[in-house]
Amino acid sequence: QVKNNGRNAFCFFDPGMLTAIEARARLEVDLRKSLDDQHFELYYQQQVNEEGQVVGAEALVRWHHLDNGLVLPGQFIGLAEETGLILPMGQWVLEQACTQLAMWQRQPRSRDLQLSVNVSARQFRQADFVDRVARILRSTGARADLLKLELTESLVLDNVEDTIQKMNALKTLGVRFSMDDFGTGHSSLSYLTRLPLDQLKIDQSFVRNIGSQSTDSIIIQTIIGMGNNLGLEVLAEGVETEAQRDFLSAHGCHLKQGFLFGPPLPAPEFIKALHAEEISL
Ligand code: C2E
Ligand code: MG
Ligand code: MG
Ligand code: MG
Repeated sequence: QVKNNGRNAFCFFDPGMLTAIEARARLEVDLRKSLDDQHFELYYQQQVNEEGQVVGAEALVRWHHLDNGLVLPGQFIGLAEETGLILPMGQWVLEQACTQLAMWQRQPRSRDLQLSVNVSARQFRQADFVDRVARILRSTGARADLLKLELTESLVLDNVEDTIQKMNALKTLGVRFSMDDFGTGHSSLSYLTRLPLDQLKIDQSFVRNIGSQSTDSIIIQTIIGMGNNLGLEVLAEGVETEAQRDFLSAHGCHLKQGFLFGPPLPAPEFIKALHAEEISL
C-alpha cells in the first residue's frame, strides 16, 4: 500500500513533467521579454496570380530567440493566446504590417500589393478592435483596401453576430477579409453568405493531397466552385509542386501561395525576389 502511494507520488513528480512545466514558464517569460525588446520580425510570402505575377503577400510572424534562434509561430502563438500576450503581439504585427504596406505603396512595383495579416480570436474580440485598426491605418498611411485580414472559421463561429458587426464596420473603411484554413473548421453555408468576405483560402492540408487522396481533390473543387458562385476570390496555400499548381489552375483557382513560388522572407529579400521575378517574366 505504502509502496503504491510512493509510486503514485513519484509519478506525480515525474522529472520529465517538471521539465515541461519549467520549459513552458520559461517560454512565457522569454516571450514577454522579447515583446519589450522587439525580437519579433514579420516575414512575407508571395501570393501569385495565373500569370505568375506577385499580387500580394502574407505577413507571417517570426521570433528571434536569443538561445534558440529563429522560432516559428507554431511554437509560441498558442501560448501567446493562452497568456493574453497575443494582444500586444497582434497589435505589433498590425502596426508593423501597415508600416510596411505604406512603404510598398510608395514604390512603383509594389504599389498595388495586397497584404494579408493573420488575426487571432482574442485580438479580434477586443471591444475596440475596429478603432485599433482604423487608428493604425491613419497613423501609418496604409491604404485600407490593400489590407486583408485573415480570420479563421473557429473565430467566426465563436461569436457570429460580433464578427459580422466588426467585419461590416471595417468594410466601410475599405478593409478586406479572407477566410483562412478554409475547409478545416465547421463551415456552414448559412453564415458564410452573411459574412462580408472577399476571399476563401483553401487549407494546405487539402492541397498536399492533390493527386493522392481523391476526396481532397473533390473538396478543393467544391471550395473553388462555392467561392466562385459567392463571388469570392479563391486562393490555395501550401502549393509545393507543379502538379498541384496545374490541378488548381485547371479547376479555376487562380491565386496561389506556397514554397513552389517562394518561402516567407524578410522584407528586403521579399522585395529583391519581386524584382528578380520582374526581370524573368
Ligand atoms: P497560416 O496563416 O495558415 O499560414 C500558412 C503557413 O504555411 C505558414 O506557416 C507558412 O510559412 C506555411 N507555408 C507556406 N507555404 C508553404 C508550403 O508550400 N508548404 C508548407 N508545408 N507550408 C507552407 P508559419 O509561418 O509557420 O505560420 C503558421 C501559423 O501561425 C499560420 O498559419 C497562422 O495561423 C499563425 N500565424 C503566423 N503569423 C501570425 C501572426 O502574425 N498572428 C497570428 N495571430 N497568427 C499568426
Ligand atoms: Mg494565414
Ligand atoms: Mg492558412
Ligand atoms: Mg494553415
